[in-house]
Amino acid sequence: MVVAESKPVTEILEMIKEFKKVVVAGCKGCVTVCNSGGEKEVGILASELRLARKVAGNDLEVVEYTCERQCDPEYIEPLDDLVKDADAVVSIACSVGPQYIAARYPFLPVFPGLNTVFIGGAAEHGVWKEYCQACGQCIIGDFGGLCPVARCAKSLMNGPCGGSSGGKCEVGKGTIDCIWHLIYERLKNLGQLSKLENPWGFKNWSTSRDGGPRTMIREELRK
Ligand code: SF4
Ligand code: SF4
Repeated sequence: MVVAESKPVTEILEMIKEFKKVVVAGCKGCVTVCNSGGEKEVGILASELRLARKVAGNDLEVVEYTCERQCDPEYIEPLDDLVKDADAVVSIACSVGPQYIAARYPFLPVFPGLNTVFIGGAAEHGVWKEYCQACGQCIIGDFGGLCPVARCAKSLMNGPCGGSSGGKCEVGKGTIDCIWHLIYERLKNLGQLSKLENPWGFKNWSTSRDGGPRTMIREELRK
């Protein structure tokens, strides 16, 4: 899932300081799963904004809305009525959401209420870790199913750097596993250490950000 974290309320208050009425828009997708942008968080943020502005003697009207997915234009449509007399939208979806809302309402200010951080998974309750950088050409089959692109601090493809120590990465002061240690252990378990005997070669980075903004087309789904 896409992992995102809340921006500080003070930052959001600064973004909307000149407005009298805003819509706080959440999303029931990834950001609900990582507890940063679902229905509950919409309610909390809306209350915080109202309260802070009340204390400042400058009341703010906040409309709450949470859609199925902000990354699907059809789910943004219901905002049409809600934004009619609003001054701005604060989106607490991943950063696709505010960009879709901005595209739909050319004359309405839109602000991100979250920082989109990475594609990750839950390690334990309240802890999320990065597993994928969306490089566009998944190669983990060659690495025991583990990703050196996202999980090595240097995206190394041919084994650990000199900073790996005791299975830990030199980045993170011993708190991050060296993914190359894990890859080695995994391939050893699988009896596939021979996979490490030859240089891996070149990765095609044009499918990653190096190739510019990406588009995925599934012709069979298009009408
Ligand atoms: S190789 Fe690329 S697509 Fe596969 S997990 Fe790593 S970053 Fe993600
Ligand atoms: S210690 Fe391991 S994970 Fe960290 S940068 Fe070096 S090879 Fe990558």
